[in-house]
Amino acid sequence: MDKSCIFCRIVAGEIPARLLFEDDELVAFADIAGQAPVHLLVVPKRHLPHLFEAGAADEALLGRMITAATELARGAGLEGSGFRLVMNCLEGGGQSVFHLHLHLLGGRPFAWPPG
Ligand code: 5GP
Ligand code: ZN
Repeated sequence: MDKSCIFCRIVAGEIPARLLFEDDELVAFADIAGQAPVHLLVVPKRHLPHLFEAGAADEALLGRMITAATELARGAGLEGSGFRLVMNCLEGGGQSVFHLHLHLLGGRPFAWPPG
């Protein structure tokens, strides 16, 4: 738990968020500034700043984030239309909260390449 980390504080219940999913390792909640009709964040409970801090010991956790996001996509009715998963890494990759998280975006078309 990093007291200065907004997602650690959400995990600890110190900052309100409506959890859509929780297990022993992960939580998921709606992004505060949703960029699509469905915009959820899948977040490990453990403070891990970004992918460069993750290693082989985190492979199961990273895989679980993807399967949890896919189940959330199914639950959100995106099985027909599809969805996008995004994990930004460091400022150059667009990361603004330095606690690892996976964006689940859906409910509208997405362009490629991304902006
Ligand atoms: P990043 O830019 O690091 O990939 O994504 C961080 C995301 O966290 C942004 O989409 C931003 O809107 C979201 N966010 C930042 N602060 C909060 C918060 O306090 N609550 C929630 N639910 N989302 C947040
Ligand atoms: Zn954190």
